[in-house]
Amino acid sequence: MTRVFLASRNTKKLAEVRRILGVSLPDVHVLGTDDVTPYDEPAETEATFEGNSLLKARAGVVATGLPSLADDSGICIDALGGMPGVLSARWAGLAKDDTANNELVLAQLSGTPEERRGAEFRCALALCLPSGREHVEYGVLRGRVLTEMRGTNGFGYDVIFAPDGDTRSSAELTDDEKDAISHRGQALRAMAPVVADWLPG
Ligand code: IMP
Repeated sequence: MTRVFLASRNTKKLAEVRRILGVSLPDVHVLGTDDVTPYDEPAETEATFEGNSLLKARAGVVATGLPSLADDSGICIDALGGMPGVLSARWAGLAKDDTANNELVLAQLSGTPEERRGAEFRCALALCLPSGREHVEYGVLRGRVLTEMRGTNGFGYDVIFAPDGDTRSSAELTDDEKDAISHRGQALRAMAPVVADWLPG
């Protein structure tokens, strides 16, 4: 069985990656941070999702010696000039508190009319090998910021984001519905053939 390390502490992200890659690559075993010896993860100091995804995947290779995937993602809100962007996880402070982040965004957009609530989730997904080979794939999901939190699935900003063409929040979608359209789903489906090619079982 081929092993790939996902350099992320986010157990919900790990579940998404296992689900989505599992569809086309059932023989690839995705390990999470709980499956490897703990290591110091790098600070996300880059200004782009791509830069941070590479930083995290490279650190994963150094720490584990395994081919490593890392996703860097976030929400970019039109009315906030594309922020929080790479600051999404810590928008309301260093605590990485989803509820505080969502409350802050709702407050920042209070009074903003429907037509100016456009936003998108973006994802950069890096694959780095011990040989130094690297590849990055991307995904974007357009939608809008709701006026209240809704739903219990997913994580992060899912409760305040409705994908285009849907009245539900992403946290009201089933796992399969979110995977089919999500920024991470797009990037992972694009990455699957690269994983298959670079890491033959
Ligand atoms: P990262 O783990 O440093 O890439 O931070 C990503 C942050 O972006 C998370 O903490 C979430 O707040 C947000 N985010 C990324 N992807 C999603 C998603 O699929 N749904 C909701 N929030 C997301």
